[in-house]
Amino acid sequence: MIIVKSKDEIERMRVSALMVSKTLGMLASEIKPGVTSLHLDRLAETFIRDNGGKPGFLGLYGFPNTLCTSVNNEVVHGIPSSKPLVDGDIISIDCGVLFDEYYGDHAYTFPVGEISKEIKKLLDTTKESLYKGISEMQSGKRVGDIGYAIQQHCESKGYGVVRELVGHGLGKKLHEDPQVPNYGKRNTGKLLRNGIVLAIEPMVNLGTHHVRQLEDGWSIVTEDNNVSAHFEHDIAIVNGRPEILSTFDYIHEALGISETTSQISS
Ligand code: MG
Ligand code: MG
Repeated sequence: MIIVKSKDEIERMRVSALMVSKTLGMLASEIKPGVTSLHLDRLAETFIRDNGGKPGFLGLYGFPNTLCTSVNNEVVHGIPSSKPLVDGDIISIDCGVLFDEYYGDHAYTFPVGEISKEIKKLLDTTKESLYKGISEMQSGKRVGDIGYAIQQHCESKGYGVVRELVGHGLGKKLHEDPQVPNYGKRNTGKLLRNGIVLAIEPMVNLGTHHVRQLEDGWSIVTEDNNVSAHFEHDIAIVNGRPEILSTFDYIHEALGISETTSQISS
């Protein structure tokens, strides 16, 4: 059942989403060769608690950390480790916060040092596909329209769109209805309307879309060990249109990227 949020609830959710955005922005300037994901995890937990929030993933379904840190061929749900990052790696950081009863949940894939052009293009395309999906999140459209837009954009460049893991509704629970696949057919699936809040999160592989789970019971990796990217925003439908509650602006400011991500086409 989809739980529709009031305008007041959406404002509260914006605060939670922005706490995640600020956490990721803080981490952005720490990510460099030699740093460990476990160090980033400790920084994030301290930052969230100092801001009055609770790490949203820690302990949820038994997850052991604040961040999911997925390096290179890891798609999502990677566990922070003491292995130092290396120049040319990419690291997807997914962060959840519980604040004032509501969850924020968003993610960004960061380059570590200098990355290849090929990988940079994967990151850019995945991020673009997120916004293409978001622009479909309008009253009267359907969940399948979001997945269709993401899939078309990524597959047209030859990338693999992960099927096994999907976006989701967001609210007092981290995972609410509906599921939001990153693939789909136009005009199919649940109807979208005002007050629906979704976490849209394309997971896109350089090679095959197939994935497998590691023996740690968490980490999802690509079947062919090619790299994978993951970008996620929290979005509400307000007055029939998508309103992004989270922002990459803190990250882009830290990385010196002049890109306004609040603009949505169509
Ligand atoms: Mg997430
Ligand atoms: Mg999510």
